[in-house]
Amino acid sequence: MFLSVFDMFKVGIGPSSSHTMGPMVAAARFLDQMRASPFHFAGLRASLHGSLAFTGVGHATDRATILGLAGFTPGDYDADRAEAVLAQINETHKITVDGLPPLRFDPKSDMIFDYDHKLEGHANGMMLMATDGQGDVNLSETFYSIGGGFVMTEAELAAGKDTDEGAPVPFPFKSAAEMLDMAKSSGKSIAQMKRDNEVSRNGEVHLRSGTKRLWQVMNDCINRGLSSEGILPGGLSVKRRAKGIHDALMAERGLNQSAPHTINDWMSVYAMAVNEENAAGGQVVTAPTNGAAGVMPATLRYYLDHVPGAAESHVEDFLLTAAAIGGLVKFNASISGAEAGCQAEVGSAAAMSAAGLCAVMGGTPEQIENAAEIALEHHLGMTCDPVKGLVQVPCIERNGLGAIKAVSAASLALRGDGTHLVPLDACIETMRQTGADMSEKYKETSLGGLAVNVPNC
Ligand code: SF4
Repeated sequence: MFLSVFDMFKVGIGPSSSHTMGPMVAAARFLDQMRASPFHFAGLRASLHGSLAFTGVGHATDRATILGLAGFTPGDYDADRAEAVLAQINETHKITVDGLPPLRFDPKSDMIFDYDHKLEGHANGMMLMATDGQGDVNLSETFYSIGGGFVMTEAELAAGKDTDEGAPVPFPFKSAAEMLDMAKSSGKSIAQMKRDNEVSRNGEVHLRSGTKRLWQVMNDCINRGLSSEGILPGGLSVKRRAKGIHDALMAERGLNQSAPHTINDWMSVYAMAVNEENAAGGQVVTAPTNGAAGVMPATLRYYLDHVPGAAESHVEDFLLTAAAIGGLVKFNASISGAEAGCQAEVGSAAAMSAAGLCAVMGGTPEQIENAAEIALEHHLGMTCDPVKGLVQVPCIERNGLGAIKAVSAASLALRGDGTHLVPLDACIETMRQTGADMSEKYKETSLGGLAVNVPNC
């Protein structure tokens, strides 16, 4: 099993990796199928099912799908050009994209929110269809957005297709137990093993420059969030708070009047800055999803700005360790809120961040595994119930609390010797089972929890 650090952490756009980025990626794949097809096409149609339908408007799934069909991808998204292209499609009812004839598409009738038919494979299902001159479908594909921007076709999902088709890697651990065994027998850290895997596939230069860029995008996102004010889009009238809190924290700095727990506000404000940017449709790094994109940058920024002896040269080890843990969670359970609730998103992000922080603070592989387990264990059972289907409430604050738990988990693990009762593998399996048992109401459908109990929503 190999899941690259660049699959786990992707530069993309808000507000959701599964509901915004995934559908855009699916549309790009469908365009490729159309280009390779011998048929002549004259139109397009799309239908959203399950959670993609229920919370699609709040997550801008329709917009992302249309832009994907118009040739946009999350990695090189240009917000200004997107607005112009959408306006043109709404006016002309035509999509023009490289390598295909002009395609008829009326967003009002060809973009269908199907609330009644959930597709069998996954909670986040969508169908993309290409039609001929008479409007009959002559090519269609079912896609599932399985979390973190990952997309599978119906056939790939049925075949249980792993995303990895490359050559074997030096340390192919599929469980935490295997990871610890390999670390012991090789004498390498988790980051070193993950680095060897990455280099064997993509080379040293790619790894160095890629991880540097990931941290740059994460940190830029924090800084943009800390300097932006106003109301977030979507109709909930949620005010951006990160700038005000950060300004107050900066003013208090050095006055020696702050309570010790103020450090929690620093962690929260970094995460909130990222999630406010995400909610505004800005550029973020999925870590492992957009909804949970604030936990890891907040933990890293906390480390760099507040931990004595911290060094930017350790960021790569942080990211590699976090990616190793994220790969285990994704492979053995889920990182999708629609599949397993928020335990799979913010819980996974906290586990990954705790592991990364523990690693750069000198933790052994056993302590790192313990840190990840502590962080995940105390998110078990956490539901996904975003108010109005927007990735704002509870998501923005929740990322701050996820970062605080991640730091506490790393700290507790570092105070032990790595021995503990609940193995990370057992915790991941518990998360999977809990997610499977969880009512659909609490899996990104906005049909239960806060989403139905907040007045006037
Ligand atoms: S509640 Fe959690 S899983 Fe659901 S959208 Fe918000 S961050 Fe994602």
